[in-house]
Amino acid sequence: MKKSSPQSDISRRDAMKLISAGSAAGILGLFTSRESRAETRTTPAYAAGMPPVKIKSVRAIATAPEGSNLVVVKVDTTEPGLYGLGCATFTQRAVPVISAIDSYLNDFCAGKDVDNIEDMWQSAYVSSYWRNGPVLNNALSGLDEALWDIKGKRANMPVYQLLGGKCRIAVDCYAHASGSTPEALAERVQQFKDQGFRHIRIQQGGYGGVGTMPKEPDFKQAGFGREQDMYMDQQTYLRRVPEMFDYIRKKCGEDIELLHDIHERVEPVDAINMIKRLEPYRPYFIEDPFSPENMGWFRHLRNQTTVPIAMGELFNNINEFRDYMVDQLFDFIRVHLSQIGGITPAMKIARLGEWFNVRTAWHGPGDVSPVGHAANAHIDLAVWNFGIQESHFWNEKAQAVFPGCQTYKNGYMYINEAPGLGVDINEKEAAKYPIGTRSNWTLRKSDGTIIRP
Ligand code: MG
Repeated sequence: MKKSSPQSDISRRDAMKLISAGSAAGILGLFTSRESRAETRTTPAYAAGMPPVKIKSVRAIATAPEGSNLVVVKVDTTEPGLYGLGCATFTQRAVPVISAIDSYLNDFCAGKDVDNIEDMWQSAYVSSYWRNGPVLNNALSGLDEALWDIKGKRANMPVYQLLGGKCRIAVDCYAHASGSTPEALAERVQQFKDQGFRHIRIQQGGYGGVGTMPKEPDFKQAGFGREQDMYMDQQTYLRRVPEMFDYIRKKCGEDIELLHDIHERVEPVDAINMIKRLEPYRPYFIEDPFSPENMGWFRHLRNQTTVPIAMGELFNNINEFRDYMVDQLFDFIRVHLSQIGGITPAMKIARLGEWFNVRTAWHGPGDVSPVGHAANAHIDLAVWNFGIQESHFWNEKAQAVFPGCQTYKNGYMYINEAPGLGVDINEKEAAKYPIGTRSNWTLRKSDGTIIRP
């Protein structure tokens, strides 16, 4: 049996005396002493003796050094010089994320202990009562990643050490190859192969072959929609993808893994038929065959083909992953980390994947900030069921804004091994590249029907 401390015996005796005496002042004194005990409990044991570090402010920093809107959260603390950075990039709707951070999260967090990340995540998640969507999740992710960054800095360790330490030498990545013709695409694939990449995503003319369609769509001729609305001929796309795989396999060989993203742009049954035709070319994975509105089709797909599938980029809540992973209906977990709320929820999905042998493939294009790429990479290094990481090569402007950007060698991503996430921000440089509000992505069929996503 646990022995009670002398202090708790005294408190109990005092409380009994006060209650029996019915003294109002005494009862108030009891509450004060409870409060002070609660205060003591908020300091974790490992930090005993260290001064408590509190959050001073939470604010958004927006920048677009490569054109894409990037939003980063900076958490300043009561310890001079100690701050954390987290990615909150929802590039298509950056402005409301900034408002969620500056107007709500700052107020919610100021004065709280930097140590209790899980508690902070859980409390912020329900503080709006209505559960988070992409705007609030991105704000929350910025806070969550920044607190991991701070914890790493306080522990004097890179974040992957706090997640369990390294499972592998570096982060194996895939590169994006695209070309408007099979020949141009093959050339690009060969360039990445020569750089040492073992995994290459192949897209001909972008998603759905946009821009390479054979005819002017009927909706444009009829003056329907806007001038900049894009057009996709789904049948041309469905025909071209197997031809593309055939050409690239013949031209670039078997000693490379090929990936492709459907981007949810065709009818579900057409996607199934096309994926079946890709079997002879042994894709590493086919991404996003269906939109989140069509999840019921996964069971039909699985019954028809063993081609590996990646899914999850558009999911908001980690509960959306659960049943499909438990039933092993896809093979790779696509997650835009900031979209689901940061490292804390992503680790839960990754661990769930280990139970069912579903591997990670975090989203990592240019609309994830270098801080977000670092968050991806720290998890990639630490979880057993890592699959592959999407790569992005930062230009010089972005590297000047974000000192400590990831580097690549022989198809692997290497992170800055400094304590925390390892990526800093130069706010003076960031201010040179203001964000824009563009993003009115509209894609239509020939008759004008909107194509999802
Ligand atoms: Mg995708």
